[in-house]
Amino acid sequence: MIKIAVYGKGGIGKSTTVSNIAAALADRGLRVMQIGCDPKADSTNSLHGQAAIPTILDLIRQKGDAFSLKDMTVKGYKGVVCVEAGGPAPGMGCAGRGIIAALEKLKEKGAYDIYKPDIVMYDVLGDVVCGGFSMPMRKGYADAVFIITSGENMAIHAAANIAMALENFKDRGYARLAGIILNSRNVKHEEEKVLELASDIHSAVIGSLSRSTVVQEAEELHKTVIEAYPASSMAEEYRILAAAIYKEAQKRR
Ligand code: ADP
Ligand code: SF4
Ligand code: MG
Repeated sequence: MIKIAVYGKGGIGKSTTVSNIAAALADRGLRVMQIGCDPKADSTNSLHGQAAIPTILDLIRQKGDAFSLKDMTVKGYKGVVCVEAGGPAPGMGCAGRGIIAALEKLKEKGAYDIYKPDIVMYDVLGDVVCGGFSMPMRKGYADAVFIITSGENMAIHAAANIAMALENFKDRGYARLAGIILNSRNVKHEEEKVLELASDIHSAVIGSLSRSTVVQEAEELHKTVIEAYPASSMAEEYRILAAAIYKEAQKRR
């Protein structure tokens, strides 16, 4: 089982990218599980096609422990197992602790043993890399972390913070940084800026994605680009990125 986490600033394109990678890997016959670790709880929408699915934290709030693994998971495109950790009620509680509780519940209910995924992908918000949000980089969760960024300053700033958190954990056997993904916003000198970031944090850009209207068109259909427009050049970009991520993650297993 390969376990990766994808971190990045809110709105940078984590969920869109992770879902397309999930779909591309599922197309190759792999068993995939995608776990949204963002209070937005919309990570897997384009895989299952629904507006929302029950989150683990909602289930815990409503039912205590009286729910099953099936209640926490929805099968999406080509059998991708979709999970949303969820978040606290706005203004209440700690989102990071919520993610810890959700991931523990998933493990406790046997998600990894029962579904036996070939690859698990955690889609994690990276604006605040506090203890809770760093949970998926800790021992037993992800082995490899990928950071998504554009050339925008705020995204680069978040990426550098995420890299610093990984660096702080490096002697504890936690996940290691496996590469940077550039999701283009067409800002000036974008590639140079992201290459400079990669060099500063001793990493490499392992893939890049164009900014494309096809992405939004697929989103309107509640589908991934891989499912809605498999013949598009954007779908091919996602397939190439999926192969690169899989290869890098295998090295760090
Ligand atoms: P995050 O999960 O990081 O918060 P999302 O995946 O929800 O971000 O993406 C935010 C918005 O950006 C979505 O509307 C999505 O369609 C759009 N988007 C993401 N990547 C691209 C891209 N390569 N080209 C065009 N639009 C994109
Ligand atoms: Fe919790 Fe992190 Fe928010 Fe603090 S910053 S309340 S630790 S999620
Ligand atoms: Mg998201």
